[in-house]
Amino acid sequence: PVRVRFCPSPTGNPHVGLVRTALFNWAFAKHHQGTLVFRIEDTDAARDSEESYTQLLDSMRWLGFDWDEGPEVGGPHAPYRQSQRMDLYKDVAAKLLDAGHAYRCYCSQEELDTRREAARAAGKPSGYDGHCRELTDAQVAEYQAQGREPIVRFRMPDETITFTDLVRGELTFTPENVPDYGIVRANGAPLYTLVNPVDDALMEITHVLRGEDLLSSTPRQIALYKALIELGIAKQIPAFGHLPYVMGEGNKKLSKRDPQSSLNLYRERGFLPEGLLNYLSLLGWSLSADQDVFTIDEMIAAFDISDVNPNPARFDLKKCEAINGDHIRMLDAKDFTERCRPWLQAPFAPWAPEAFDEAKWQAIAPHAQTRLKVLSEITDNVDFLFLPEPAEDEASWNKAMKEGSDALLRTAREKLEAADWTSAESLKEAVLAAGEAHGLKLGKAQAPVRVAVTGRTVGLPLFESLEVLGKEKTLTRIDAALA
Ligand code: GLU
Repeated sequence: PVRVRFCPSPTGNPHVGLVRTALFNWAFAKHHQGTLVFRIEDTDAARDSEESYTQLLDSMRWLGFDWDEGPEVGGPHAPYRQSQRMDLYKDVAAKLLDAGHAYRCYCSQEELDTRREAARAAGKPSGYDGHCRELTDAQVAEYQAQGREPIVRFRMPDETITFTDLVRGELTFTPENVPDYGIVRANGAPLYTLVNPVDDALMEITHVLRGEDLLSSTPRQIALYKALIELGIAKQIPAFGHLPYVMGEGNKKLSKRDPQSSLNLYRERGFLPEGLLNYLSLLGWSLSADQDVFTIDEMIAAFDISDVNPNPARFDLKKCEAINGDHIRMLDAKDFTERCRPWLQAPFAPWAPEAFDEAKWQAIAPHAQTRLKVLSEITDNVDFLFLPEPAEDEASWNKAMKEGSDALLRTAREKLEAADWTSAESLKEAVLAAGEAHGLKLGKAQAPVRVAVTGRTVGLPLFESLEVLGKEKTLTRIDAALA
């Protein structure tokens, strides 16, 4: 059975790279009717916070992910927060030391630095040089007498490590490129290098799907796994698949600090979780060459890790918005009106709560649904219905109101007054006729009307907007513009 894991560290706002990793693990688990383990890697007390933890869970729920084992759901390998598993790691570290798979290293940071520099200068590999691998009892006693506090270092076997990456194919690492590495700090705190593979082993993970940035830790983990198997702690080495880098602006790696990478930002702007996930799935994967928009179920049905492209994927905000817009259009009408709610209320809505009119909202919503890329755009698109006066925007006003606009508005007012207000078509005829009277095409003729009534140069289909606003308010606003 397939068992995969998603194991972020709660060190700040979740970012899109993290979400992509979660998505691929989730889809892989679902596709294979496997188990998704959600584990919290919170062993770094200095960087992890309870707030980030809560936010992480909330984000995962918002995205629609579920997990079979982990926080809030429990499971046979509980607890799923590493901060609550410290005794386990101490125990494993002791066993690795006993069996000789790890040793105490007394080198100070300065010593390590000096030797690394010297190795570099001599053109030799600059990783740990194995200095403390075979200390005699006398040397150990001397170091202890000097008051040195040792770290625990894993002893890499002197062999080439080869594995078949699920995304990249066969990869080979030679021993000089994978030196012995620290697994427990001098203060006794276990490191990621230990706790991550130990938990993968204890939780019987079969497939590790994670970002390319972790590729260099894989040969170390495979070696550690072999030791754990020997000790009866692990059953099998999992398969590994490394997902491509996500590149941002200027073809640089999208970093956590990049505003574009913050999940919260997408949430606040009103991305639909399904739209965002659809886009993120395209960062390294595709359903087919000619279909960019699909549902999450379609993705799950088709998802195959060996289809993932190892080349860096470019994050394209425009495309992300376009795909989200397509998902907005896929909502049923009622769902759309409900999902817009937050942006029709405080703190986003600039009008008084009592000015909101449900009937008007229901009438305008279908016209909005065909336009929006993100839900937050709804506020500016419908504020003309609920504000006592159209939003004041001098730039729009100057852009639309040209010489002759007053004359046109006067004619338009006349025609609109005589029009049939139960039909948007009739309102269009009115403005069309006004334009003809002044030698203007419809596009030019409707611009001043739109600004006078909505305060903006762009927006929802104008005649439907006027119809929903109503005759009286429309004419009053045109009068105000002419005054
Ligand atoms: N906690 C690690 C991270 O967030 C997990 C890495 C892994 O998937 O092995 O980078």
